[in-house]
Amino acid sequence: MSGAASSALPDGPERGPLRDGVEPRAGVERGALPEGAATPATSDSPGAPAGGRTAPVRPAGRTGLRTRAARVAGAAAGTASRLLGRGAGEVVAGKVVLRLAPRAVHELAGERVAAVVSATNGKTTTTRLLTAALAARPAGRGVVSNGGGANMRAGIVTALTSGPGDAVLEVDEMHLSGLLPELAPRVVVLMNLSRDQLDRTAETRQLAAGWRTALAGLDASAEQGRGVVVANADDPLVVWAASSAPRVVWVSVGASWTADARSCPRCEQLLTLPGDPEDDRDATAAAEAAPAGAVPGDPSPAGGWRCPSCSLSRPTPSVVLEGDVARELDAGTAGEQQRTAAGHPVRLALPGQANRRNAVMAAAAARELGLDLGSALAAMVDVGDVAGRYAWLRAEGVRFWLLLAKNPAGWVENFDVMGASDRPLLLAINAQGADGRDTSWIYDVPFERLVGRRVVVAGERAADLSLRLAVAGVEHQRVPGLREALRAARALGAPGSGPEPGGPPAEEVDVVGNYTAFQQLRVLAAQEGAR
Ligand SMILES: [Zn+2]
Repeated sequence: MSGAASSALPDGPERGPLRDGVEPRAGVERGALPEGAATPATSDSPGAPAGGRTAPVRPAGRTGLRTRAARVAGAAAGTASRLLGRGAGEVVAGKVVLRLAPRAVHELAGERVAAVVSATNGKTTTTRLLTAALAARPAGRGVVSNGGGANMRAGIVTALTSGPGDAVLEVDEMHLSGLLPELAPRVVVLMNLSRDQLDRTAETRQLAAGWRTALAGLDASAEQGRGVVVANADDPLVVWAASSAPRVVWVSVGASWTADARSCPRCEQLLTLPGDPEDDRDATAAAEAAPAGAVPGDPSPAGGWRCPSCSLSRPTPSVVLEGDVARELDAGTAGEQQRTAAGHPVRLALPGQANRRNAVMAAAAARELGLDLGSALAAMVDVGDVAGRYAWLRAEGVRFWLLLAKNPAGWVENFDVMGASDRPLLLAINAQGADGRDTSWIYDVPFERLVGRRVVVAGERAADLSLRLAVAGVEHQRVPGLREALRAARALGAPGSGPEPGGPPAEEVDVVGNYTAFQQLRVLAAQEGAR
């Protein structure tokens, strides 16, 4: 069923290396980059300027005849794709535009890109939250965005052709370096870097080096408020990459995953995190420096990571997230002054601390675009499901809460989001191109945290996942087919098989899937709804 389902995804074709028709060759090319080399990220489309270095011919903001004609052709292709039921048509429309007008990104972007958002995890949600904040401006211009997650060159072109107004763009982390010169955004939002598709973006330090080179080329002096980087101070890889930029606003939101940044990105020495035996700072002071809302088990280095060998350390943030409160700090304030700074509650329809982190990053970016932090956060309250994430769906007589997790950091975030849920849990892992074919990362996910839950495993890699859970001591059933697995999970929730009474409704199940498994589950629910 996988082939049929993935060709009819509800919100556009596949994500990842195949989304823009790029075969995994991209990973091969980028895997051999020397430090400091310009990334070849623009090689994802024919005719793109190599390495983003070639000066575009036409000045930004003036759309040539060629681009205007390409835009008409692209719109027609997108419509045809939708009518044929091949998806949202975003990617095919963009590909047609780029084939006819290879420099369309620069021309269409002009000076209207308000923000680009990049990270390993959270970029679709953060883009959506920032879009909501800007759309709520009282007399604001309209906002266009690639909200469906088509985050490479073709998807970005389609977003830019979708209407007038400011653009808020999610950009794939491997394509950021190549696209930055053409997009010339006012704000660049950078949140986290971790291992994702092992056959594509496993080398996070190399990715950070590419960002670092591209960000050094931002010209923050050209115009007030252009080329500002808003970066997470708690991710050492992001800090090292962003610190080359001419102007950076540091934001402390914590990090759910630090295993990929355990050594210093600059000198490769082991970093010291608060609480480490090597941390010779006063333990009480370190605890006080940690955010008040740090959750137990959260390995966030928010109290201040540092390299004992070189001078790289956590920069002083000007916006912090403490639990569910965001605070703006004046430069130089600390301790008691930090705690008395005015706080803005971070209340969201979206669940979990990971989404509060996304919201505060988005709000800090909105602040650079003229909004105040409190109003930006208030405008995000009603954002519910984001491209299907956190949606309640129904199929096979099961009402299920669908979560997306594509890499170890994402799984840890979802464990946080599920909290103490006692519903049966279905885990589904595929290994198609958009997922990455190497799924050995499952050994980095702390599945031990699922001991005691009623678990069913499914998907193309159900056998691998089953072995992983056995190693973790998690009892489970293995049912490869998704429909059958949903029914099996439902049976686990039937009276007598769970902690009744007072437990969750019998037909409700939590589901976590990686990218194509997640999309297949959406298709199952959509097909059942259409019957
Ligand atoms: Zn160092």
